[in-house]
Amino acid sequence: MDYQKILNDIYNEVIQLENNGSIAEYIPELAKVDASKFGISLIDNQQNIYNVGNATENFSIQSITKVFTTALIFSEIGNDLWKRVNFEPSGNAFNSLVQLEYENGIPRNPFINAGALVIADLMLEHFEDPKTYFLDFVRTLANSKSINYNLEVVNSEKETGFRNAALVNYIKSYGNIKNNPEDVLDFYYHQCALAMSCEELAKSFQVFSNNGINPYNNERLLTSSQCKRMNALMQMCGFYDQAGEFTFKVGLPGKSGVGGGVAAVFPNNYTVAVWSPKLNKKGNSVYGLETLERLTTITEASIF
Ligand code: GLU
Repeated sequence: MDYQKILNDIYNEVIQLENNGSIAEYIPELAKVDASKFGISLIDNQQNIYNVGNATENFSIQSITKVFTTALIFSEIGNDLWKRVNFEPSGNAFNSLVQLEYENGIPRNPFINAGALVIADLMLEHFEDPKTYFLDFVRTLANSKSINYNLEVVNSEKETGFRNAALVNYIKSYGNIKNNPEDVLDFYYHQCALAMSCEELAKSFQVFSNNGINPYNNERLLTSSQCKRMNALMQMCGFYDQAGEFTFKVGLPGKSGVGGGVAAVFPNNYTVAVWSPKLNKKGNSVYGLETLERLTTITEASIF
């Protein structure tokens, strides 16, 4: 498969499409990003890299980090994770509060904000210095020492994150947050403010296409059963309340973030990451979805 030609063709076609999306302005620092950025990186199962556009430029990967925190905690505590957070699609917006009351403070899944806050709480419970530990963890997955938190984004989220503060306090009222809500939010905002490129993201997702083994150091992070579950979660919950449409049109497990990034996995075949900051109303990158739909259509291959 000539992935470089396929990506070049998709890039040249998609960049000409009208994009009616808008940048995530509710986090002021994200609103400063150049909306015309567009990059794609695909890495095959031999770790060959195919890039096009702004594929090596850093951006705020936001909720894509929820995949990393979940994988890390899953590898640490195994199935005990499911006592704190469920594994069902939410069908609601990423920052919704409504389900929590009906479901007694157990978030629907780890990829909506409520679930990610519970995972952040678990990070604080299990690691003495969770910010450093998490950063090292992602650097190892991505095989890149230069990845870092963007502190301007951290502060911007802190100043405007009233909904996340509501979520963490509400979940604590049910006893499903053990630490101080301020400390949980501090970790969560650092996590979301991780800056990475498409290439680094595609590298860091290789572990999920490689049965739970990080191909860059040959270490096993997840059992193959746990890796299957991570991919199932991405398939069911990776695109908020558009997860069904993503499955329908693309047919790969993946995760989006409000920084305009999308990362996806074709187990035993490739990982792919796209960045284009303009989002649709569900909070997913317009060009990101378009690119991946074209990729699985042109290659005539997906997990289905
Ligand atoms: N930091 C963002 C928030 O908490 C993450 C949202 C996202 O990427 O889905 O609202």
